[in-house]
Amino acid sequence: KEEYIRRTEKMNIVGQLAAGVAHEIRNPLTSLKGFVQLIDQEYQIDPKYTTIMLDELDRIHFVASELLVLAKPEIAVKDTIALTDLVKDVIGLLTMQAMMKSISIEHVSFNEEIKLEGNANQLKQVFINILKNAVEASGENATILVQENVTDGKVAVSISDQGVGMSEERVSRLGEPFYTSKTRGTGLGLMISFRIIKEHGGEILFKSKEGTGTTVTICLPVHEVSR
Ligand code: ADP
Ligand code: MG
Repeated sequence: KEEYIRRTEKMNIVGQLAAGVAHEIRNPLTSLKGFVQLIDQEYQIDPKYTTIMLDELDRIHFVASELLVLAKPEIAVKDTIALTDLVKDVIGLLTMQAMMKSISIEHVSFNEEIKLEGNANQLKQVFINILKNAVEASGENATILVQENVTDGKVAVSISDQGVGMSEERVSRLGEPFYTSKTRGTGLGLMISFRIIKEHGGEILFKSKEGTGTTVTICLPVHEVSR
């Protein structure tokens, strides 16, 4: 257990800057998109060009939206969230992507019902980001294990994959903005996840070995445990 590496603090000014830029980019982007659609309708140009333009605009929009999470300093909403339901939802959302690689996702829930307090959408986003990374890191026919545990007022949800894994150097860079090893990655998922979990009074731990796999543990304070 002692080999877990803590990664929480990694951005502040960079995050604020990114969120500011993202905010400034979104409005002009919306108007650009509108005009590209107009050009598409009004002029006889090959639709393949406008399709590319619209796709690329959507990608910029997606990156900007991811960054905008950083602009919200406080948890705006406080929901009471049933952990097991949240985990089930997230697994459901990634089932298609997992099926395409014949990956099975196993869920071991805690035998009592655990309730968290926080922003349900944000927490869901964190679990999606981390489970998605596990799916992307895994090869065909692999298994991903999602396990819930509770110890002294804290819940730990660990997501273990048998995927590519990471060197120590890589692990130490997680959470840096735009740090990605993927061709179509944004390198923003973990930075945003660290931020959200920190705001919820928790932390994210990584244990990884190159070529063997990775375990990511999301720790959060428990609001309530019931049967
Ligand atoms: P993205 O997924 O867009 O690349 P993330 O912030 O989600 O951005 O992840 C950053 C990087 O961390 C990934 O590109 C990958 O190199 C590494 N990573 C994250 N999770 C895992 C994992 N489960 N196994 C191996 N590498 C991982
Ligand atoms: Mg990711």
